[in-house]
Amino acid sequence: MSTIRVRFAPSPTGLLHVGGLRTALYNFLFARKHGGVFILRIEDTDRNRYVPGAMENLIRTLGWAGLQYDEGPVTGGPRGPYIQSERLAQYKACAEELIRNGKAYRDFLDQGDDDEQEKSGEGEQPKIARRQNLLSSDEVRRRLEAGEPAAVRMKVPDAVTIAIDDVIRGHVEFASDLVNDQVLLKSDGYPTYHLANVVDDHFMGVTHVIRGEEWLPSTPKHVLLYDYFGWPKPVFAHLPLLLNPDRTKLSKRQGDVAVEDYQKKGYLPDALVNFIALLGWNPGDEREIFTLEELTREFSLERVGKSGAVFNMDKLNSVNKQYLRTKTDQELVSVVRPILEESGIRGFSDDYLGQVIRLTKERVTTVCDFKETGDFFFADPARYDEEALKKNWKAESPKYVAAVLDALRSLETFSAATIEAVVRRTAEQLGVGPGKLIHPVRLATTGKSTGPGLFELMEVLGKGTCVRRLERALQTLV
Ligand code: GLU
Repeated sequence: MSTIRVRFAPSPTGLLHVGGLRTALYNFLFARKHGGVFILRIEDTDRNRYVPGAMENLIRTLGWAGLQYDEGPVTGGPRGPYIQSERLAQYKACAEELIRNGKAYRDFLDQGDDDEQEKSGEGEQPKIARRQNLLSSDEVRRRLEAGEPAAVRMKVPDAVTIAIDDVIRGHVEFASDLVNDQVLLKSDGYPTYHLANVVDDHFMGVTHVIRGEEWLPSTPKHVLLYDYFGWPKPVFAHLPLLLNPDRTKLSKRQGDVAVEDYQKKGYLPDALVNFIALLGWNPGDEREIFTLEELTREFSLERVGKSGAVFNMDKLNSVNKQYLRTKTDQELVSVVRPILEESGIRGFSDDYLGQVIRLTKERVTTVCDFKETGDFFFADPARYDEEALKKNWKAESPKYVAAVLDALRSLETFSAATIEAVVRRTAEQLGVGPGKLIHPVRLATTGKSTGPGLFELMEVLGKGTCVRRLERALQTLV
């Protein structure tokens, strides 16, 4: 069998959407699993929707997610260029070939400038344009010679059934009467998505087209084009929609949809990829956690379902938490540090941050949570939590805290074990349970009533900081 070649073909119209990441991931996994080639192709022929910098951003985000492409912009490859606006001559030649073979015609009335990429789910029947018999060939020649702008439309036959066998959706039939005489080339020389997509898939040797379900309604046009050109058709696999929890189509209104939003919020790339892999594909059992290698081994298009997949934040959070636990403290230092620095928290050694992470790792969901959960490791408490004050700062608390402070001052080795011993001994001397001391000391040191083990966190903070915070609490909390 020939080498499997698949492509991710985003349009550079903005940030990479989580649905786009899923399409890229499934293509990537399919290629890796079969020793194939994963191509990145930039579909930038819709100049109205083009956003400068979007391509660079897409490439950066794919890199962050660990989805390295084999052929594409920047990297290059034998079937390039991989940016459609650099392949205009090829589309034009192909459109002309179709005209010569009677499969397409010029349309002077509608130049196709507002021809949009068609999407399903918008509830609109396409407007059926059939203008193929309006002009005689002499008339066409005359108008062309006069320099009149014209678009090129494909001829769609009446009353035939166009069918595909989609790996995911099975046998799907389309009535040609519902298919537009699609504009292929606009009068400005730019192809529409349909022509460019088919031409590129052919010349780039794409064997499997794995893309979102919203492209299914476009597929009959593509199938006709393959037949018109006499090219073999790729295998089609249309991935199910991503849904909001209320089962409407995943939208910005109900949460973040850009991969970059999740990156900024402190989700780990391998956790996000793991979560996204399960949006449509299932391993056939209850397992939830997969490395990219495991996904590559286990992924198959046959296990991708037809029905929409709900983007469930609780699940993402739970997966991210599990990934955080599997990272070493030092691995996390390199992810946490830039996030802290963005908020102006700097000047802490790797060793110190590693210890903070060790103590707080169990309590965070995303990397960004380290900032909040571990705030007292980076600055003296700016305020004391109201609830905690009510609960843990009693009339006798200053006396107990002062006693602990005195005992700590004389400690030579400031470790969790020695601090604990001091606190317990002081409690005994005062004739009270250790809790009477531990709670107000925690409040004075961290400003909160909950957090990691008090003795461990005090060791990490160090003697100087603990003494200063206890003194300050005694001055301010009377
Ligand atoms: N350019 C299309 C997109 O933005 C590609 C669709 C396809 O893969 O055929 O999703």
